[in-house]
Amino acid sequence: MRRWNGWGDEATHYPLPESAGRFLETKVGTGLRIPDVAFERALVAVPPSRLPPYQQLSLDPADRLYHARGQSLPDWVALRQGRVEAFPDGVAYPASDEAVRELFVYAKRTGARLIPYGGGTSVVGHINPRAIDSPALTIDLSRLNRLIDLDLTSQLATFEAGVCGPDLERQLKERGCTLGHFPQSWELSTLGGWIATRSSGQQSYHYGRIEDLWAGGHAETPQGPIDLPPLPASAAGPDLRHFLLGSEGRYGIITRAIVRVQRVPEEEDFHAIFFHDWASGASAVREIAQAGIPVSMLRLSNARETEVTLALSGKDQLVGLADRGLRLFKYDEDRALLILGVTGGKALTHYAYHEATAIARRHGGFAAGKTIGQLWRKSRFLSPYLRNTLWEQGYALDTVETALPWSKVEPTALAIQAAIREALQGFNERVLVFAHLSHVYADGASVYTTYLWRRSPEPDQTLAHWQAMKHAASQVLIASGGTISHQHGVGIDHRPYLAVEKGMIGLQMIEAVRHQLDPDRLLNPGKLVE
Ligand SMILES: Cc1cc2nc3c(=O)[nH]c(=O)nc-3n(C[C@H](O)[C@H](O)[C@H](O)COP(=O)(O)OP(=O)(O)OC[C@H]3O[C@@H](n4cnc5c(N)ncnc54)[C@H](O)[C@@H]3O)c2cc1C
Repeated sequence: MRRWNGWGDEATHYPLPESAGRFLETKVGTGLRIPDVAFERALVAVPPSRLPPYQQLSLDPADRLYHARGQSLPDWVALRQGRVEAFPDGVAYPASDEAVRELFVYAKRTGARLIPYGGGTSVVGHINPRAIDSPALTIDLSRLNRLIDLDLTSQLATFEAGVCGPDLERQLKERGCTLGHFPQSWELSTLGGWIATRSSGQQSYHYGRIEDLWAGGHAETPQGPIDLPPLPASAAGPDLRHFLLGSEGRYGIITRAIVRVQRVPEEEDFHAIFFHDWASGASAVREIAQAGIPVSMLRLSNARETEVTLALSGKDQLVGLADRGLRLFKYDEDRALLILGVTGGKALTHYAYHEATAIARRHGGFAAGKTIGQLWRKSRFLSPYLRNTLWEQGYALDTVETALPWSKVEPTALAIQAAIREALQGFNERVLVFAHLSHVYADGASVYTTYLWRRSPEPDQTLAHWQAMKHAASQVLIASGGTISHQHGVGIDHRPYLAVEKGMIGLQMIEAVRHQLDPDRLLNPGKLVE
């Protein structure tokens, strides 16, 4: 059973190791264990639906509560502390294009606003109904979850777009294939959601981002259907896929997606490499990317994240041993950990590993084997569960992410961290800030910053802390010329910063397409653009 107010399945837990609890106490102070609002009490707050009954519509308050919010920090505060101010008035579960089209007709008749809902894993407010709108109808696409066709000759798979990560990979694996799109939210997020938010999987360096993987498909818009044929390449004017990529449910509902798949790789390994500091690690990673070495992942943590990763692993003995060994060779407080992934045939992975480690060594890198990489792989989809535990122990956690050219990566990464620290100083609280390069390109990288601080007894105070840090960090990355999001999208939370990146004409273009496809503003109002 899925958690209604946190991450993942209720039966899965990620306990905080005792030593990690002590580590957090020294860094930010003792967490305040504030009880959450119980499901039954939250349910009582769901008002009567404003929608008339309809054949495929659930008006059940529990369904409406489950679909009220996503996974952003304000979403967590709202759900856990009883602050949800708007609920969907109903939830529909269409299982065909025709059912989606009928919902457009229903929305026109009743004035309902439609919110396409994939896995609800948005971290920027994408799927939240707004209190100011007419009735909201959430369209949960989970019944559209089948593999429809697999063209092995062309390595193209056609899926219904509501399929979630594990179901998609299972259906492909049975046929010897993989998509290789593994965002950390993979357990719950869906193919349609990945496309609508321009998602990036952890091994995008090898498999590509979703825009590389998405070859075509079908969408239903209030103005009619759009079919996108899968073409290896085309010079026939603007690529219409790019109108739907990142459209955040504003332009239509993607019901089918044709994706580029690969054979399941013969080998896959994740190695740990330590550097004396982040700057030398970043230089090595840049050189590996610019030399085109075919690795599958380059994830470089800064010194603080390296410390946190080891502290939270719970493997105290192993970490102690590694620490003593690394210090002998002067990899001390400033050390930075790179997880290097290699994926593919035996010869290719062997070549990639040796070429990459040769470059790393030239930058002072020390190859520390596969144990840490194996631990990372084991917990890659489990680590979001730690947020539940941290919250319950009194800590809030959020992230801010961007991408920039290499020349701006290091100064911006440092400035983001400084801005977050400074923002919380004004409240007389401490924050633990750490970062990694999560996705690497020849011309730049994405910088992924995590910040953890103590929750306050007053939900508004926790929100004020978050708002101050989020805004300070966003200002820095905008001023540095970074994107407001490399992978999470815009939603509500990033909307105020979009104009700087797109310019007024750019925003008008986005809005003009919205007007063309959805003149009655049926779809997901207020997200992406106002
Ligand atoms: C713990 C955690 C880890 C994460 N890690 C990553 C990561 O590594 N990489 C990454 O890119 N993101 C990550 N995210 C963010 C999130 O998972 C992505 O934005 C994801 O793509 C959202 O997919 P979803 O199916 O959950 O979409 P939802 O959250 O349900 O919806 C997101 C948006 O897409 C629209 N939408 C959904 N389905 C459709 C459809 N079929 N047609 C039209 N519009 C649709 C919705 O209307 C909404 O605007 C993470 C989130 C969490 C909570």
